[in-house]
Amino acid sequence: MTDNADGKRALFSSAVRRRGTLVVECSRCHGRTRLSYAEFAQRHLPYWLWTPWRHYSRYVTCPACGQRAWLAARWFE
Ligand SMILES: [Zn+2]
Repeated sequence: MTDNADGKRALFSSAVRRRGTLVVECSRCHGRTRLSYAEFAQRHLPYWLWTPWRHYSRYVTCPACGQRAWLAARWFE
């Protein structure tokens, strides 16, 4: 699970913050992925769970590992 963690971290840190995007962090693979709002919304389909009292609050398909997992979302203004 940690084979390409460094690569993902480098990708994340080199990314430029842009309006209309967010970063999701996966509780399963610990990958961080930047998504647009539209992409993020699509990943909730066909159903979604949201538990706002938890750090990993959204049960969606992880873009990094492709599995349904609990993800934390950070929003950029
Ligand atoms: Zn993942």
